[in-house]
Amino acid sequence: MQNFDVLVRGSGCVGRSLALALGAQGLRVALLGAAEPSPAQRDDVRSYALNAASVQLLRELKVWDAMPADAFTPVYDMKIKGDSAGALLEFSSWAQGVDELAFIVDAGVLEQQLAAALRYAPHVQQVSAPVPAALTAVCEGRDSAFRQSLGVTFTPHSYGHRAIAARLVASEPHQGVARQWFRSPDILALLPIAKPEAGASYGLVWSLPEARAAELLAAPASEFEAALNEASQGDAGALRLVGERSSWPLALARAEPLIGPGWALLGDAAHLVHPLAGQGLNLGLADVAALAAVIRAREAWRSPGDEKLLRRYVRARQADTWAMGELTDGLLKVFASEAAPLRTLRNTGMNALNALPPLKRWLTRHALGL
Ligand SMILES: Cc1cc2nc3c(=O)[nH]c(=O)nc-3n(C[C@H](O)[C@H](O)[C@H](O)COP(=O)(O)OP(=O)(O)OC[C@H]3O[C@@H](n4cnc5c(N)ncnc54)[C@H](O)[C@@H]3O)c2cc1C
Repeated sequence: MQNFDVLVRGSGCVGRSLALALGAQGLRVALLGAAEPSPAQRDDVRSYALNAASVQLLRELKVWDAMPADAFTPVYDMKIKGDSAGALLEFSSWAQGVDELAFIVDAGVLEQQLAAALRYAPHVQQVSAPVPAALTAVCEGRDSAFRQSLGVTFTPHSYGHRAIAARLVASEPHQGVARQWFRSPDILALLPIAKPEAGASYGLVWSLPEARAAELLAAPASEFEAALNEASQGDAGALRLVGERSSWPLALARAEPLIGPGWALLGDAAHLVHPLAGQGLNLGLADVAALAAVIRAREAWRSPGDEKLLRRYVRARQADTWAMGELTDGLLKVFASEAAPLRTLRNTGMNALNALPPLKRWLTRHALGL
């Protein structure tokens, strides 16, 4: 049997990106998981907000520039509304001095492009059973079974909410504006995307208490659209549902420890955050970039599974992951709560933040991964 340097377990976006990044360094990589995206991955209706750091990594992996032009859409402005009249927070790429605040990417196309790039990665071999390797990188997502066998603590704290994702077409052009409504208890986000209709489509992410989400998932399209149009107050024009609705349970979790002898956790196998800030995959891709960087910079005598090396990976990622978990959790507590004092606080807080350009600039740079 061939000797491998790294075994990557799990072929989601994070596992595939890691296999590409390490293969490009000339390491012998075994990728355990399906070679082709599953129907669920291919038909994923989600649209991911990716920050500048994630796009840069995908560029280096030769994935970004191979994407069809209608697979990603730049976001120039972001408008966030609170749940009292006039509570508004706005971010603009122009004011922040960046070309765009983020890119919204078609999740299914991203999975397919990563799989396509792997077909031309000479050092990466697809395997159907685990093989011995100096390092095992666990990228199996939130329900990772291998993580459990390592004795890692990973206790998801459920928010009691589900996120409904779908594609929409609006009666008005999106003009590169992403919109979010903090409506306590639900949070609605519309992310501009080119498909199914160029210039007028949105990816929907609507996080709601479980019972309300179940009602809306079961409702006929017309009823769903009525609820959606009521929630978005006509700000984006009249919204029409196109295709299926999918949903995901939402939770906060962090794995402890993140590494052990000859293994490391990355992506959703390492951390789960609420999608309200669109940061889960950005965190996972930052894990990939950090692990690839410490492996590339290693002393010649160290193997990729060397524990000292893996501790460098932990140092590079722990604070960022912790901060994003706390930030999304804190935002959710303040914004999803129906308690009157918090309601006043969040709405006045939004307006106060809107009037503070330096703080907005700091927040934007953090979200962009700069
Ligand atoms: C509604 C919603 C919206 C989101 N929006 C955003 C966004 O805008 N921006 C953003 O950055 N993030 C977003 N996220 C988060 C993002 O979806 C995840 O962080 C990301 O998909 C995690 O990728 P992953 O590769 O770690 O895990 P996964 O995508 O779960 O992939 C893991 C893979 O491993 C495979 N696997 C599991 N067990 C095994 C095994 N034993 N052997 C082999 N293979 C195995 C699985 O089948 C799967 O293919 C959103 C999440 C949700 C729910």
